[in-house]
Amino acid sequence: MPVTCLNCGNRFEGKYCSNCGQKASVQRLSASILFEETLHFLTHMESGFLHTTRSFLLKPGISSLNYIAGKRKEFQKPVSYFLIWTGLYILLHNTIINHYHYQLTRELVTDLNIREQSNILFRQHFTIFLLPVIALSSVLLYVIMAKPLYNYIEILTLSLYGAGTYFMISFISDVVLGFIFKINILSVNVFLWQGILSSIYNFWYSFDFFNRTHIRFFWIRLLLVSALIAIGGWIIMLYLPLAWLYFFG
Ligand SMILES: [Zn+2]
Repeated sequence: MPVTCLNCGNRFEGKYCSNCGQKASVQRLSASILFEETLHFLTHMESGFLHTTRSFLLKPGISSLNYIAGKRKEFQKPVSYFLIWTGLYILLHNTIINHYHYQLTRELVTDLNIREQSNILFRQHFTIFLLPVIALSSVLLYVIMAKPLYNYIEILTLSLYGAGTYFMISFISDVVLGFIFKINILSVNVFLWQGILSSIYNFWYSFDFFNRTHIRFFWIRLLLVSALIAIGGWIIMLYLPLAWLYFFG
């Protein structure tokens, strides 16, 4: 028999509202509901978020093809995936910096030259400076590899999955270097190491995905795009903070 949806007022039959998708059996809030909800969150996180992470780390090519083709239910949505890993990474990064008192103070900064200042600015806000790197990478991937098979937004979406997964790799790298080996994660060597990690992962992702599309001159295009992303990334990360200081500092 038909029920009235408590969320939108639609009359429907079945387990879910045909208009808004809310469950037919909405009960009064109680401890058991809260418990069920928690359990659901944890299992969903395992099947959605962690599954997405594993998929885009180990088999980025087939996962990307599936996602683009419309098999999307098994994956965490791209923007939230990117934001969750970015958030977790920043949280961990700052925890390590504060725990070991690695922070460079503002008083120190005023005595430094502009090059050092921009470097500090970059490392304090490098997620923000990474957004134009992601935009540039997806433009290069689109123009050199993906066109006309895929549109730009599809490549940008995959770049968000890639960037999110890269932050997961950085997260693990920070745990190992910062907590286990107790290395200063603000040092230049760690910064270079993260650049190398990002190039390796980017290469692996591009290889695994575009190798399945059977495009002509695959290796030349792959090497070209990987080199351009690496060079473009470095230029943005070195000069954008400088430009920022020049205009707003
Ligand atoms: Zn409804």
